[in-house]
Amino acid sequence: MSCALKEHLYRHITQHGPLDVGQFMSIALCHPQYGYYMKQDPLGARGDFTTAPEISQIFGEIIGAWVADIWVQMGRPAPFGLVECGPGRGTLMADILRACEKIEGFRSACLVHLLEISPALKKEQAKTLEGLTPIWHQTLASLPQDYPLIVIGNEFLDALPFRQLLKTQKGWGERVIDENFEFGVRPAGSELLQYVPESLNNSAPDSIFEVSPARIIFMENLCALLKQTGGAGLFIDYGHDMPGLGDTFQALHKHEYVSVFEKIGDSDLTSHVDFSALHKAVFNCGAHVEGIVTQGAFLGALGIDKRAEYLVNKASAAQAGDIKTALHRLTSPDEMGRLFKVMGLSYGDDVKPAGF
Ligand code: SAH
Repeated sequence: MSCALKEHLYRHITQHGPLDVGQFMSIALCHPQYGYYMKQDPLGARGDFTTAPEISQIFGEIIGAWVADIWVQMGRPAPFGLVECGPGRGTLMADILRACEKIEGFRSACLVHLLEISPALKKEQAKTLEGLTPIWHQTLASLPQDYPLIVIGNEFLDALPFRQLLKTQKGWGERVIDENFEFGVRPAGSELLQYVPESLNNSAPDSIFEVSPARIIFMENLCALLKQTGGAGLFIDYGHDMPGLGDTFQALHKHEYVSVFEKIGDSDLTSHVDFSALHKAVFNCGAHVEGIVTQGAFLGALGIDKRAEYLVNKASAAQAGDIKTALHRLTSPDEMGRLFKVMGLSYGDDVKPAGF
């Protein structure tokens, strides 16, 4: 564990009082010196977790087909921005661009923008995307506003802070973290209570409901931008498509779940994404938003089986085995196929995201 980070958190809590889960997560992940995303490349076999684009190039190729389809539906604008939120090692972007290489006019029209806070991952992205002159951004605010944008994010939303409401005898409270790194509870503010769906208001004592104003505000800001520029968005993450109760605060270190307080600064902290809340927010912004589907259904609708079959037929026996294993991991309901969900949105007449 990063002792300096724990010390910093301890001092912060003793001076300013307990932290809500979102504040704790922000500091643990993003502290300029000791934060998890500031220090290291967390991905891959030697890191802490593996994502879909790191499993197989087929994932990025299918997302590439989705991007190309939207671009054609939009009338092949040139220029247009292809924006990736939280691009990790740049693998997904590289696979998308390779998949779209043969689409006439695509590459010369496409300007690559990356939303990334991690210096370590920016370096990786620069290496992977060498020659493509990506433009980096810390927030949505600096993205271009004078041409259409296609925005994607895989396992990005789960990294944004969330907070936890706890049902007590006196109603909903908010879970907080004290100086002993234990959970406590304080009265919940109206800025959180506004997000509790009516159907969950009478939940039993000790129920936990997770809300993420940060994810909702991110989506609202994105919608405001897309409303102006025209374009579409695609977000893939683990989570649920109906509002639900439960504690999904999780820490991953070297591919193992650990306690959220065990390896602060050295483990990835996330929670499941409440896609129903994001769907509602995007709908309320006036965007066209598709019903949430599972990753398995989405990749299936876009032809992942055919693409895998094509690659298997060209591959050696060993490679063919790897492709089949990857396909299973990405689409099977027992693996990523059901837990991961996909949300598609668009602005502009006649633009309908494929795969839903
Ligand atoms: N999309 C990649 C990586 C997912 S990990 C993949 O599928 O492999 C989460 C990514 O989001 C990392 O690149 C991380 O540095 C970035 N990230 C986390 N919080 C962020 C924030 N607040 N703003 C921008 N990027 C962020």
